[in-house]
Amino acid sequence: MMIDPFDRRISYLRVSVTDRCDFRCVYCMAEDMTFLPKRDLLTLEELDRLCTTFVGLGVRKIRLTGGEPLVRRNIMALIAGLGRHVRTGDLDELTITTNGSQLERFAPALFEAGVRRVNVSLDTLDPARFAAITRWGKYERVMAGIEAARAAGLKIKINTVALKGTNEDEFDRLIAWCGSEGFDLTLIETMPMGDIEGDRTDQYLPLSHVRRSLEERWTLTDLPDRTGGPARYVRVGETGGRLGFITPLTHNFCESCNRVRVTCTGTMYMCLGQEDACDLRAPLRASEGDDLLRAAILEGIGRKPRGHDFVIDRRHARPAVARHMSVTGG
Ligand code: SAM
Repeated sequence: MMIDPFDRRISYLRVSVTDRCDFRCVYCMAEDMTFLPKRDLLTLEELDRLCTTFVGLGVRKIRLTGGEPLVRRNIMALIAGLGRHVRTGDLDELTITTNGSQLERFAPALFEAGVRRVNVSLDTLDPARFAAITRWGKYERVMAGIEAARAAGLKIKINTVALKGTNEDEFDRLIAWCGSEGFDLTLIETMPMGDIEGDRTDQYLPLSHVRRSLEERWTLTDLPDRTGGPARYVRVGETGGRLGFITPLTHNFCESCNRVRVTCTGTMYMCLGQEDACDLRAPLRASEGDDLLRAAILEGIGRKPRGHDFVIDRRHARPAVARHMSVTGG
């Protein structure tokens, strides 16, 4: 069992399986990102060992993310392998966060492996705007991917980063679309992570304002639902759909944080918004047994901070954390 210094039980592991991505979303990465040398990455076998050790320590939910998890070569071998923990009941959920670009190809295999829900990041329903936000993304491919995921039996949650002056006029349309398609929708505040071209103050849209504005047109009723993540949900009366808000800036929920994150090089971050980290690659590689790895994980959990302190305003010109979201995984 992993219990941190603030008595929070750690049951949710998010693993960034690659820092590479086939999109260059403007709020996430610079266009000319430098990625890690491939030799620094944990192998798929090492990632399996790492995840399995966490499962042994009480993790009940694993989310694979990135970068774009589905562009990592042979990723289905890892996902299919981890599916054994779902079948034995040691894991409640194995899931991924994806930009959807490869879903058409992988959706049936994901379901086969034991994945039942996927988060698809989609910030707009306008193809031209989609091209502007993602720089390299193909809107039709993502739509085909979403359709394939649905056909494969996967439940879909759409994640939308709320961007001032970019997609703030589209939330009504996204709520209506997700409601009619039967998808959950979660709006996310942009977080100050990593240097990008441009100023985050210009992009930041407090979701407290967004919610107030939505309530002029939609009947939003708070729900007690928790999916083990940071979102807080409401029911949209007019569509019957579920709408989530992830508000690390206007209201953080660190007191109920149950997560840690591991990068593709085996660095564990105990908080998305803090620099403190713990190397798991050296203990993983130091011996064939998992004792050293387990000890390193527990030592890191013992340092999990109370919470993050993201701030976005003109006085804080630098990002709160230097690494990009694609390193730790969103
Ligand atoms: N490539 C996958 C995807 O697009 O979902 C997984 C990784 S991506 C980094 C995960 C999520 O983080 C996406 O929903 C993305 O929009 C979000 N994200 C990236 N940078 C962010 C930032 N600075 N603030 C808030 N969300 C961000």
